[in-house]
Amino acid sequence: MRVKYSYLEEQFTDYRTIFDRIAEVVRTGDFTLGSAVSRFEEEFAAKLGARFGIGVNSGTDALVLSLKAIGAGPGDEVITAANTFIATAGAIAATGARPVYCDVTDEFVIYPDMIASLITPKTRALVPVHYAGVPADMDRIMAIAEEHRLPVVEDACQAFLAEYKGKCCGTFGITGAFSLHPLKNLNVWGDAGIIVTDDENMADVLRRLRNHGLRNRDEVDFFGFNSRLDSVQAVVGSHLIETSDWITQTRIKWASRMDDALGQMDGDIMVPARRPHKRYVHHLYMVVARDRDELLEFLIENGVDAKIHYPIPLHLQRCSAHLGYQQGDFPITEQQAHSIITFPVHQHLDEEQIDYMIECVRRFYDR
Ligand SMILES: *Cc1c(COP(=O)(O)O)cnc(C)c1O
Repeated sequence: MRVKYSYLEEQFTDYRTIFDRIAEVVRTGDFTLGSAVSRFEEEFAAKLGARFGIGVNSGTDALVLSLKAIGAGPGDEVITAANTFIATAGAIAATGARPVYCDVTDEFVIYPDMIASLITPKTRALVPVHYAGVPADMDRIMAIAEEHRLPVVEDACQAFLAEYKGKCCGTFGITGAFSLHPLKNLNVWGDAGIIVTDDENMADVLRRLRNHGLRNRDEVDFFGFNSRLDSVQAVVGSHLIETSDWITQTRIKWASRMDDALGQMDGDIMVPARRPHKRYVHHLYMVVARDRDELLEFLIENGVDAKIHYPIPLHLQRCSAHLGYQQGDFPITEQQAHSIITFPVHQHLDEEQIDYMIECVRRFYDR
C-alpha cells in the first residue's frame, strides 16, 4: 500500500468550478486588490472571528509586514521558537531585527517559562508559532507580553482553525499571520498569505504596507512593499474555505485514530499530551519515536511518506551562525530534532491507509 504525503493531485478534481469563477475575474479585468480579494478577506476574517483580514502574497510577508507595522527594525530583538520553519526567523531578520530563539515544550510550541529570561530592553515583540497546528500556550504568553508591554505577532501559518480555549489561533496577538501555500491546511495554487487583526489602525497600516505605502493613487505615507494577495489565488481561497471544516475535521479524525493506536506503544512512541482546552488541527501529525531514523527508513520502504520537520533546529543552522548559539542551548528542541517523525493525516486518506501506517509502526517495533 502507498500512503502519500501530498494530496494536491486529488484535491482539485473540481477545478472547473474554480476556473468559472476565475473567468469572471478575467472578464472584468479585476486583477489587483479587487472584489475577489476583499471577498476572501472578509470570509477568512469571519471564519476566525477576527475583525479584519488583509491579503498578502505569502505567509512570510504576513509576518514581515506585521513586524514592520509594529516598528521592528535594526537594533531590535524578536523572540520566537527554535524549532519553527525557517520563514519565521527569516521574516524577523528581513526587518533588520535579531531573531532570539526560545526552547519549546513537549508539545512542540514555545516554552513560556523561558520567554521572560530572554526579554531585554531591546526586545520588540514576541512571535509564538502554533507549530504543527498545536496552539501555543496563549494565556501565559499574553500575560508575559502584557507585563513587559510587548506586542505579540502570532505565526499561525500552520494553524488555520486551531483554537485555544475556544478562540482561534491568530486572534490573540496584535496580528496573526497565515500562509495559503500549497502545503498548508488551507492551500491555494501558489504563494499567498493573509493577516488578521482586530485593530482598525493596524489594518489600515497593513493595507498600505502591502501596496507601496499608498494612501490613495497619488499619496504615499511611508515606504512599503508590493505584497498584494493575487486575485486568482483569492478565488481559490474562497472556494476552498467552503470545505475547510471538512478538511479540518478529517485531519482531526485521522490524528485521533493515530493517537489511540500509537498512544499504546509506550516506550517506542511518545504521543504528545492532548489538552482539552486546545483544538489541534494537525498540520503536521508529529510524535516522538525511538530509533527514529530506522523507523523512517522502514516506513518509506513500505510506501509510507513519513517525514522529519525538521532535523536541524534554527539555532544550529548556518544562517544563524552570527547569532552565537551553540549545541546544547535548547535541549528540548535538540532532543526532538533527533526523535520527531511526521505522518500524513490529510483529508484525502482513508481508514485503511491510516490503519496500514499504524500496522507498519507495530511491525517495525515488533521485529
Ligand atoms: C509556511 C510557513 C511560513 C511561511 O509561509 P509562506 O507562505 O511559505 O511564506 C511561516 N511560518 C511557518 C511556521 C510556516 O509553516
